Amino acid sequence: YGSLNGKVALVTGGSRGIGAATALRLARDGADVALTYVNGKGAAEEVVRRIEALGRRAVALRADSAVADEAAGAVERTARALGGLDVLVNNAGVGVLGPVGELSLADVDRVLAVNVRGVFLTSRAAASRMASGGRIITIGSCMTQRVPGPGGTLYATSKSALIGLTKALARELGARGITANIVHPGPTDTDMNPADGPYAADQAAMTAVGRFGTAEEVAATVAYLAGADYVTGAEFAVDGGHAA
Ligand code: NDP
Repeated sequence: YGSLNGKVALVTGGSRGIGAATALRLARDGADVALTYVNGKGAAEEVVRRIEALGRRAVALRADSAVADEAAGAVERTARALGGLDVLVNNAGVGVLGPVGELSLADVDRVLAVNVRGVFLTSRAAASRMASGGRIITIGSCMTQRVPGPGGTLYATSKSALIGLTKALARELGARGITANIVHPGPTDTDMNPADGPYAADQAAMTAVGRFGTAEEVAATVAYLAGADYVTGAEFAVDGGHAA
């Protein structure tokens, strides 16, 4: 797989965590990068500064994946700012955990809007914009492979839908030279799931290697897929053996 020189990437939810690490990694590999955020304007602008310090162009876009026009519109805004779109990383996601009977309708709508509908709409907009060589890389979850305990019904439902999206997109876009793949992180040290959080020790114990992953370890697999031409419709666990 080759370098990303001259490519333009869009990373949704790029202000923090796995998205920020991915935006930086793609820039290090040569891409210009747009990243979306909702609340973390300052953090997003800091990622932009770090990318610019690498000699790449970058732009932070406020775009809420839960709002249909904003989810789809991020693609055109990226193309306007950076001259096209070659790599989409569907990273923005939210987790609402809890007993299935206690989840509100608002919880259900919110999680499905961000994790599923937003990914669908951004991917669709990207597919219509991308030329041959385009890449759609989606961040799923180890919870699609193995749900290790109660409380994950809504989150696992939402993330599992992305496997179907990925495989179907791979079939639909393959003839145009566009690939679609999904990466399933295991417990990864971020604001969403800190390695010193209350459930961290249990999660680490469920992996084969006995520890949390880093955002950079997930980003490395995304970067590989951004450069891979003959890999599509595939699932990649970056989970320390959580699913083993
Ligand atoms: P964080 O909560 O640390 O960061 C989430 C990022 O997404 C932030 O940049 C946030 O931006 C952005 N974001 C949240 N909601 C929206 C929205 N509606 N529209 C646009 N951007 C949004 O999460 P992680 O880095 O941990 O997770 C990244 C992805 O990886 C998610 O899809 C998550 O489900 C998945 N994942 C994470 C695991 C983990 O253990 N950490 C394990 C398996 C999967 P803002 O600055 O606005 O808050």
